[in-house]
Amino acid sequence: MEIRIKKADKLMERPDDSNLGFGSIFTDHMLLMNYTKGKGWHDLRIEPNAPVAMPLSTMVYHYGQAVFEGLKAFRTSSGEIRLFRPKDNIARLNRSSRSLCIPEIDEKEALEALTEFIRLEKDWIPSATGTSLYVRPTIISTDAYLGVRASHSYLYFVILSPVGAYYSEGFNPVKIWVTKDHVRAVRGGLGEAKTPANYAASLYAGEEAVKNGYTQVLWLDGVEQKYIEEVGSMNIFFVIDGEVVTPMLNRSILPGITRDSVLKLTTEWGMPVSEKKITIDELFEAHENGKVSEVFGTGTAAVISPVGELKYGDKVMYIGDGKVGPVAEKLFKTVTDIQYGNIEDTHGWIETV
Ligand SMILES: *Cc1c(COP(=O)(O)O)cnc(C)c1O
Repeated sequence: MEIRIKKADKLMERPDDSNLGFGSIFTDHMLLMNYTKGKGWHDLRIEPNAPVAMPLSTMVYHYGQAVFEGLKAFRTSSGEIRLFRPKDNIARLNRSSRSLCIPEIDEKEALEALTEFIRLEKDWIPSATGTSLYVRPTIISTDAYLGVRASHSYLYFVILSPVGAYYSEGFNPVKIWVTKDHVRAVRGGLGEAKTPANYAASLYAGEEAVKNGYTQVLWLDGVEQKYIEEVGSMNIFFVIDGEVVTPMLNRSILPGITRDSVLKLTTEWGMPVSEKKITIDELFEAHENGKVSEVFGTGTAAVISPVGELKYGDKVMYIGDGKVGPVAEKLFKTVTDIQYGNIEDTHGWIETV
């Protein structure tokens, strides 16, 4: 693997660890690679982070042929830098690419390049508890052409953003709106790909949720609008009658890496766990019978996000008196302890930078 490095002449000022927020601060450099038909992926390079100008006819601006990933780099108390399950993110990027007719990248090389890039930017990784460096690999179509077809050229890029602790003031259970009027994805569509189109499709219902005092949307299946799918940037879990339940992957749900980690951990802990089809009506019925003890979302940003309230039509479900449940709490602690090196990684999830 050959990687060309051009360093920035002047480095930016580092932000204060206590005030990072999410996704608005970026590091000094970017990682880039181009694809041209006939030549394949080439010109892997690190450059000073700067705007990249493209003609307004560039395909991605018109038809949205693009995929992305989201993962994090952590600094341990001993100063070690580590990535959580990066191989799974790169493999998923390639799976998403296949759904959108984007050429795949070499996974081994991509991990090596990513590791080298993060090593170069390591001073940007914050050290306060709960903070990390968010990593955003992306591929966009770059042909300057208005005809509809898959592009013949692409740009792979990675940008890095130091992010604050998601729970700096303790767990905040979220309020979730179950939409009856909109769907995010359908079987045979793009639901299982991490692609901007799914986010564009989620905005209208997202605003509707906010107008009604809710923060996120829980999506039902796109065909019958009966089966629970996911939250749109998080997968969803329930603890029903002591069993950990999450919707079965059905090609319109994004296969979350945190989801997979939660399934593996709870199974190891000897809990009953199942991935199955579950309807929104079944969930409300279980709740009315006092069987739903916890609801939580899973995703890279928050790891575990407890849900305190769900609204579906004129029914409202309150879960756990605004407190975080024991399963969610234990999962959050275990996953973050593995990430920050407080406990041993027995799963091979950590890559040291
Ligand atoms: C990224 C994402 C998730 C969460 O996946 P993780 O790998 O756990 O971060 C869930 N749903 C959608 C639609 C996503 O894009």
